[in-house]
Amino acid sequence: MSPTEGSALETRGGTPPPRVLVVEDEQPIVQVIVGYLEREGFEVVVAGDGESALDAVREHRPDVVVLDLMLPGIDGLEVCRRMRTFSDAYVIMLTARTEDVDRIVGLSVGADDYLGKPFSPHELVARVRAMLRRPRARAADVSPVRTFASLEIDPAAREASLDGAPLELTRTEFDLLDVLSEHPRHVMSREQLFELVWGGQWFGDDHVVDVHIANLRRKLGDDARAQRYLRTVRGVGYSMGTGA
Ligand code: CA
Repeated sequence: MSPTEGSALETRGGTPPPRVLVVEDEQPIVQVIVGYLEREGFEVVVAGDGESALDAVREHRPDVVVLDLMLPGIDGLEVCRRMRTFSDAYVIMLTARTEDVDRIVGLSVGADDYLGKPFSPHELVARVRAMLRRPRARAADVSPVRTFASLEIDPAAREASLDGAPLELTRTEFDLLDVLSEHPRHVMSREQLFELVWGGQWFGDDHVVDVHIANLRRKLGDDARAQRYLRTVRGVGYSMGTGA
């Protein structure tokens, strides 16, 4: 393995290498992805259809799932939806069409990121690394619970509740809420949010930030007009509101 600066692999010390499940039925693409990921030191498992992907998630407990949208049998969206009931692995969806992006993130199936086909294998590896740099759970975090009107955010437990009822947030949605609520009323640009939440370099794609904000806003009972918690600052980015 070549030395890599700031790599996810180094920060994990003596623990086994991160495991990536690749779910794709097109063999040439599988071979390229697997080759790149293995050269980077990841442990790679492959599944060729949706059903075996779900079995592989249960059996191998991957850290990251690279999930193609178009699969024989149940498609990638359904795989993502089903695996979210028992796994919190990071999910990168692969899609051939840009229209699919709205379905992937907009339907809130729980994908964390997406890449359009054709994609550069370098970029895929960069995204996987970026995900693994994101905090999974901060056991040592002693941050107090943050309260905004009827919204409570517990960064240490990575839980949030609205009107006393637990919110079902994806990991990405919680990370966004965590980052924004850490500095209330401080406006953050999409680029800043991307770097803090996705942890990688900015690819100049506003869409992934915006759709996750929209999903989160909906779960908080807000919409574009009633922005109690997540405020859009036109031309700048987003900030955490007081809830009033
Ligand atoms: Ca496919």
